[in-house]
Amino acid sequence: MTLRRALLFALALCAIPASAQNRPAPARTELSPGIYLFTTPSYGDVGLDGNSIAILSRDGVLVFDTNGTPAAAEAVLGEIRTLTQQPVRWVVNSHWHWDHWYGTEVYQRAFPDLRIVAHEKTRALMIGPALEFNRPGLEKGLPGYLENLEKRAATDAALRPLLAEDRFFLEQKTRTRHTFPNVTFTEKLTIEMGERHIEVLNFGRGVTPGDAVVYVPAEKLLLAGDLIVNPITFALSGYPTEWLRVLERVDALDAATIVTGHGAPLHDKALLRTTMEIFRVLLREGKAAKERGLNPDQAKDAIMPGLHDLMVRLTGDDAAKNAAFRTQLVDWYLHRVYDELNGPLTDAIAAIPAS
Ligand SMILES: [Zn+2]
Repeated sequence: MTLRRALLFALALCAIPASAQNRPAPARTELSPGIYLFTTPSYGDVGLDGNSIAILSRDGVLVFDTNGTPAAAEAVLGEIRTLTQQPVRWVVNSHWHWDHWYGTEVYQRAFPDLRIVAHEKTRALMIGPALEFNRPGLEKGLPGYLENLEKRAATDAALRPLLAEDRFFLEQKTRTRHTFPNVTFTEKLTIEMGERHIEVLNFGRGVTPGDAVVYVPAEKLLLAGDLIVNPITFALSGYPTEWLRVLERVDALDAATIVTGHGAPLHDKALLRTTMEIFRVLLREGKAAKERGLNPDQAKDAIMPGLHDLMVRLTGDDAAKNAAFRTQLVDWYLHRVYDELNGPLTDAIAAIPAS
C-alpha cells in the first residue's frame, strides 16, 4: 500500500463512524393509531432503503421489513423504543431483496424469542440464491465504483461527504449477519397479537416467487412490499402474468391505506390501478411484438409512445423518473414477458437485462 493509499484508507476509516452519526433519523409517519411507517434516507448515490412499518399492540410489536442495513434497523428500533415498552415479537420480511431484510439481525439480537416470518420460497432464496445474486456487486461492482469516486474526491473536496456515505453503505453491507426467517408460510398466516388481528398473505408469484403482504382489516391497511412501488414499480425478475393477477387480488382487498415497498403511502388505489393498466398493455403489446418478430428492445421502442399518458400519470413527466420508468418498469417487465412466452418461469432469480 502506498503512503497516499494508506492515508486515504485511514481517512475513509475515520469517515465511517462520523457518517453513521451524521445520517438523519428515519422519517416517521403514523398511518393509523399505533401503526408507524419509517422511511430511511438513501445511502449516498449507491443504495435506496426500503420502507419499514411497526404495528404496536398491548402485547408486542410486529415489524414489516427490516431495512437494508443493520444501522438503519438500529435507528428504526430506536424510534420504536420511544413509542412503546413492548418487545418486538414478530418480523415479517416481504421478499428477498436486500433492502427489506438485511437489518433483521438487530431485532434478533435485541429479542431472542423473535419470530421472523417469510414465505417459504423467500426463505429458500434468502439462504443462498439472493446472497449469490448480491455477491458480484459487493465484491467487485461497488468497491470498483468507490475506488473511482475516491480518486475524484482526492481532487474535489465537495465529493467527500458522498464518498463517506457510500463507504459507510459498503461497510454495512459487508458486515451484515444474514438472519433468516424461522417461520414460513405458504398462502396465509394469521397473527393475533394483543388487540391486533394481522393477516400475512401470499397471492402467488409477483415481483418475486414468494411475496408476503400484511393486511390489517380493522385499519383497512395493506403493507404491499415491492409488489408496488411509489411511483415506479421495479420489475426485475418478476412474473408478468401472475403478478397482474396478484395485483388484482390486492385491489380486491378493502384497503384505505396502502404502503408500498418504497415511497410515500397511498391513500387511494390510483397508482395501483395505473400500474396494473401498464402491466396489461405490456403483456398484450409485448406478445404482439414478439409475434411480429421484434426483440425486447425493439418492442420497448415500439410500445413506449403508446404508454406516454400512463407514464406521465406516474412520473409527472420528470425526466429522471421517465428514464426509470423506461428501464425499471418497461424494459425489465418486457424481458420477463418474453421469458414467460419462451417457457414456464422458474423460481430462480433472473439476471438484470443488459441495456
Ligand atoms: Zn425494495
